[in-house]
Amino acid sequence: MLDVPAQALTASADNLFARLPGDFYTKMPPEAVGVRPRLIHANAKAAALIGLDAKSFTDPAFIEIFSGHRPFPGGEPLAMVYSGHQFGAWAGQLGDGRALLLAQVRNREGELWDVQLKGAGKTPYSRFGDGRAVMRSTIREYLCSEAMAGLSIHTTRALCIIATNEQVHRETAEPGAVLARLARSHTRFGHFEHFHHNGKPELVRALADHVIEEYMPEFSEDHAAWFGEVVKRTAHLMAQWQAAGFAHGVMNTDNMSILGLTLDYGPFGFLDAYDPGFICNHTDETGRYAFDMQPAIAHWNLRALALALSSLIPTEMLVMALDTYEALFRNRYRAMMRAKLGFTHDAGRADDQMIAELLTLMTKAGADYTLTFRGLSDPGEAWLTLFAPVQAEATTWLGKYRARMAGEGDRATAMNAVNPRFVLRNWVAEVAIRAVEDEGDIGPLDRILRLMQSPYDAHPGEEAFSQPPAPEYGGLCVSCSS
Ligand code: AMP
Ligand code: MG
Repeated sequence: MLDVPAQALTASADNLFARLPGDFYTKMPPEAVGVRPRLIHANAKAAALIGLDAKSFTDPAFIEIFSGHRPFPGGEPLAMVYSGHQFGAWAGQLGDGRALLLAQVRNREGELWDVQLKGAGKTPYSRFGDGRAVMRSTIREYLCSEAMAGLSIHTTRALCIIATNEQVHRETAEPGAVLARLARSHTRFGHFEHFHHNGKPELVRALADHVIEEYMPEFSEDHAAWFGEVVKRTAHLMAQWQAAGFAHGVMNTDNMSILGLTLDYGPFGFLDAYDPGFICNHTDETGRYAFDMQPAIAHWNLRALALALSSLIPTEMLVMALDTYEALFRNRYRAMMRAKLGFTHDAGRADDQMIAELLTLMTKAGADYTLTFRGLSDPGEAWLTLFAPVQAEATTWLGKYRARMAGEGDRATAMNAVNPRFVLRNWVAEVAIRAVEDEGDIGPLDRILRLMQSPYDAHPGEEAFSQPPAPEYGGLCVSCSS
């Protein structure tokens, strides 16, 4: 369907969201931001999800379409409206202020995928914003989406980055870019809140039925069971984030996916030195979205969603589903942490205590989160150096751990398959950003993307990217204003 050889796009447009009532969106084309858009990078793995051949990346039509300069074949572009709670307070109407759903396409497997542009211009929901995205935040989202997918954490995906060759004004002027991203759906908790709080229960129902029919058909006719599934997916996503050491940074209800995906990458951060209270967003002054708050905040957000569904589902059923959250989270998190330590047979409390003791030691020592777990498959002198300030305690713990593992057999391979060597540390993203912005060099971006897409592999020669930040990259600041 693109004007390229070999029939590059095998998926066909199927704009289901555009069939919903007009209250859900404003139909509009993208703005054609910038001049002579230029491809920075495209991702063959994400392209395959919509049946798009990597051969198309060099075609001018590809760049024009995914920068918003040419219509997507068969697409019905639209900006979605939603509301939300931001930092715990009702924010009223928000909506796609700099995102635009270009089209929905159905791939050969029958899956419907949203194709969305981020940074492709203003919409009626832009409020005071300019509808633009900067290269820096676009590269961060591009790499992190794929890093999360590489870790098997549910997430939206990133197809390509296109430079707009225009300056975008933030704290300083920065180069602009458009990100094309993919997700089964970009529907947010805030969509439901929007229609509930505007007194439109029939639209809450219409949206719920749309989500159920297309994405969770096993819950058709049973809204309460469907909400239970949303609770479960959200709990499991939180377990994945906590086990990976990922902090999202802006868990507002408008950034919470109804499908349980990681959505809207902004000032996120992976833990370097373990610090449970880590705040990755420097504008989050109270630490509402600190790393160790995330599971509780997700529960808070689910309560806001439950309220938005109260015209659809009896209160007792909502409460019952909400009450399952904590155990769902705890059990999944426990299972993931046990796998990280290599435990198979369950020694119950003794195992839990061993995990808790390790985390306490890591906190005291400021041990690197990712290196600590990766190193556990062969913990020797080098591993103990991560715990320099509490060497004696760490040595004692290691002795107990070795004794515990004696009955487990060789667990190294299995442990290295759940403890990544590479995560998207802020400084690593910064290397890719500086190379693109300062030198027009996409080499590091390309290399880092490959590491993130197979983060459990050793990647000899790329060890440097598995390490904590060197001093010149320390103290990087990230905020929402990107
Ligand atoms: P976020 O913090 O990126 O999740 O965005 C929160 C809200 O602000 C959403 O409605 C966004 O669409 C909107 N927004 C963020 N940045 C911009 C921008 N540069 N232009 C227009 N709207 C924006
Ligand atoms: Mg958002």
